[in-house]
Amino acid sequence: MGYKSDIEIAREADKKPIQEIGAKLGIESKDLLPYGHDKAKVSQSFINSVQDRADGKLILVTAINPTPAGEGKTTTTVGLGDGLNRIGKKACVCIREASLGPNFGMKGGAAGGGYAQVVPMEEMNLHFTGDFHAITSAHSLLSAMIDNHIYWGNELEIDVRRVVWRRVVDMNDRALRQITASLGGVANGFPREAGFDITVASEVMAILCLANNLQDLQKRLGDMIVAYRRDRSPVFARDIKADGAMTVLLKDAMQPNIVQTLENNPAFVHGGPFANIAHGCNSVIATTTALKLADYVVTEAGFGADLGAEKFLNIKCRKAGLSPSVVVCVATVRAMKMNGGVAKADLGAENVDAVKAGCPNLGRHIENLKSFGVPVVVAINHFVTDTDAEVQAVKDFVAAQGAEAVLSRHWELGSEGSADLATKVAELADSGVANFAPIYPDEMSLADKIQTIAKRIYRADEALMDQKIRDQLKLWEEQGYGNLPVCMAKTQYSFSTDPSLRGAPTGFSVPVREVRLSAGAGFIVAVCGEIMTMPGLPRTPSAESIMLNEDGQIEGLF
Ligand code: ADP
Ligand code: MG
Repeated sequence: MGYKSDIEIAREADKKPIQEIGAKLGIESKDLLPYGHDKAKVSQSFINSVQDRADGKLILVTAINPTPAGEGKTTTTVGLGDGLNRIGKKACVCIREASLGPNFGMKGGAAGGGYAQVVPMEEMNLHFTGDFHAITSAHSLLSAMIDNHIYWGNELEIDVRRVVWRRVVDMNDRALRQITASLGGVANGFPREAGFDITVASEVMAILCLANNLQDLQKRLGDMIVAYRRDRSPVFARDIKADGAMTVLLKDAMQPNIVQTLENNPAFVHGGPFANIAHGCNSVIATTTALKLADYVVTEAGFGADLGAEKFLNIKCRKAGLSPSVVVCVATVRAMKMNGGVAKADLGAENVDAVKAGCPNLGRHIENLKSFGVPVVVAINHFVTDTDAEVQAVKDFVAAQGAEAVLSRHWELGSEGSADLATKVAELADSGVANFAPIYPDEMSLADKIQTIAKRIYRADEALMDQKIRDQLKLWEEQGYGNLPVCMAKTQYSFSTDPSLRGAPTGFSVPVREVRLSAGAGFIVAVCGEIMTMPGLPRTPSAESIMLNEDGQIEGLF
């Protein structure tokens, strides 16, 4: 076979200086803040100067429920961006930055794959332009200031048992999930239980990704709830007087980064909030800036469409006033087979019946996406083992749903392989048929918002919320948080809360275990099932095989 690894392909890239890439979007050298030769931030003053321009068309890439077979959303996002440029459109992609935790844990980078990648992939998967370090620092500053406030007399009367602000590090480290802080004597403060989350799960990350500008960033940081008093009244980050200094630490991180694809087309890579307790897509500032500079902007939402696209549409688009022209739902023959009951080891063999049996999962996502008023095209992300009969089975199924599936071979061939997909996507985007609207209004009660998502997107009989949860939601409504959207935290593997229930299950309910208020980010999190805000490393972490070779190049990064 002899296919090259992602990193081998990335290393051979014929990269252009970042100034040439910026020029493709009309960004002059003076407005680029270069980080080396192939990465740059776009200056805030330039962003301010383009606000009156018309917007390009927004294209969302989402997918069926993920399976261990791999779907390739980022790969398809990058491939489609290159495909659009190839057919003569001015296009740009917008994706998330990578977290160090998953990189050193399980195999899988964040830069795409095969001949559809953004470069420099090694740096993008490691420290990149330091944004995540800045977020970790801003978060840590607030953590330190809270305990310092308690140490020096606790004027705000924080109940030390009710400090909800945790600490963060950008690493998978299960040993830190639950800790006791301030041990070792009087000089070290008041001992209390605490814990760490991974940086991407920080509310600071969600805020950086939803803020419209630095003023909005500072206001939202101030709005974060860090603790409660004995009377249960909230203490805000603003009360700790941390919001100003945090904004200073985040000033550069707020400016979006541009890099290039393997085909030298521009790509914004900015922000990376968790897709469970946060909304899981790149920053609003990158997306809105890209829309001012390109005619077509292709962006990705994490996980499957039931979580990622739902949150992109109901949270990000609502809050940022964005309106997608078309949604691309990525499916693979392999994932259809897994949804149809085939084990991972048997994915290599042709099995048209299993493909057909798995297609209802795709069908439900198509229906759901259409219910937002946006046209849908299915991208069959081609794996070299797929057979013609299997591909045809997916196409026939999708046609019967009133949509079109286009085979795309960007992983193997770059834009030559995605030109057909790009043509179809551009045609739909230009058709003007999109009439986007979120599926619930701001005014709906919080409990009804949760029910709406459970019933209309997951197709559950109902969302189960006990009295305690209903009372909490009511209280937040009284406190003025009732207009916020809901951020669902649920397994990405199934429409239901049972990760083993593949396909298009019915006859289940969705238990809501807990609700949380992210007052700065601006959403209510509904936790359905187990969610992890600090992942662990697997038995054999990929870190064990990441190293420098004799030429000083990185090996083992996928
Ligand atoms: P997602 O964004 O859905 O998590 P990615 O696009 O990051 O998925 O892809 C995950 C992995 O799968 C990458 O290592 C990529 O190289 C691989 N991959 C994606 N598409 C293909 C394909 N068509 N053939 C082979 N490998 C692929
Ligand atoms: Mg991805």
